[in-house]
Amino acid sequence: MLNIQEIKTLEEIKTKTPSIISLYLNCDQRVRTPEQIRITLKNLSKEIEAKADKRTLSKIKDYIKLRLKPGTRGLAFFVCPKIDLWKIYEVPRAFFNQVVCDTSPYTRPLIKLLDEFERYCVVVLDKEKARVFTVYLGEIEERKDVFSLPKFPGKHDQGGWRQARMQRHTEVHITRLINSIAKQIFSFFRKNNFDRLIIAGSKEVLPEFEKNIHSYLKQRLAGKFLTEMFMPLKHFLDQSLKIEEQVERQKESELVSKLKESIGRAKGVTGLGKVLSAAQRKELQTLLVLIGFRRKGKVCDDCGFISIIPQLKVCPYCKEKMKEAEDVIERLLEVALEQDAKVEFVKDNKDLEKMGNIGAILRF
Ligand SMILES: [Zn+2]
Repeated sequence: MLNIQEIKTLEEIKTKTPSIISLYLNCDQRVRTPEQIRITLKNLSKEIEAKADKRTLSKIKDYIKLRLKPGTRGLAFFVCPKIDLWKIYEVPRAFFNQVVCDTSPYTRPLIKLLDEFERYCVVVLDKEKARVFTVYLGEIEERKDVFSLPKFPGKHDQGGWRQARMQRHTEVHITRLINSIAKQIFSFFRKNNFDRLIIAGSKEVLPEFEKNIHSYLKQRLAGKFLTEMFMPLKHFLDQSLKIEEQVERQKESELVSKLKESIGRAKGVTGLGKVLSAAQRKELQTLLVLIGFRRKGKVCDDCGFISIIPQLKVCPYCKEKMKEAEDVIERLLEVALEQDAKVEFVKDNKDLEKMGNIGAILRF
């Protein structure tokens, strides 16, 4: 699992001559075809071959062709045949395509990713127990060190209890248990500082638990679901990712609103033409693109200028011949990531559609 510790370990790897290859690829299969990914790799392969060898390159190619997961959006390779280094990270966020060769791995894009991605904490409980998971970068991990819970006192040696008293006793215990879980999850939060909370469990305890969680955590509550306690990890991951998806949609529509506001203050643009001009001026701060939006156009391979004017034959900046491009959005994304802009893909959003499927919040 990718975390800050992993990155630190990576950074400790050193070679005498610059022979460590750090390769970052945008493998977002919602917007890039396998062919486009292959071409990107081909364009970067000279640098890889020069520092490593043909075998390493074909190993990378094979990995992308055969083992790339459907949900992966970014791939990072750290490779050095000399010291037997072969490390891959598949992450749910796109990278700017690049190769860096140095005496140690180039980790900045990974650090940025860790910084931007939200950490989810999932608490599952029933009348007797609780489990805690963290969900991060599309992966789930169970934390077994979080709770010490009150035991149900003497189930067996209280045999003489009447039914009603037993019932009362159980209720008291459940209340104690819920309070205890709520308290402990709050101190877990203070130590680990996750971004959002998901709560799950049986319908007997979940509403009561929700009432009892600390107000800080209530603000971070992303969702809840009913479940049995002893389900496999995969189940909790899938349920959590569904909620994460809803949160993403929510964030997207907030961003679209922010884009609308920024247009009023002349700090935002919409429509491909205006966005391209802003990209050319290096003003992109956040680029919003509707998923599935593509457009033919022309590009200058020399300076990277992108145009949607079909008649444009020569680049106005460097006088090179403009080339036909099947999809200029693809090029624009590269330009945006190069400017260190945030790229947000927006799913089915009527407002953004009306604004021409694309818009950008500007830096200046
Ligand atoms: Zn040019």
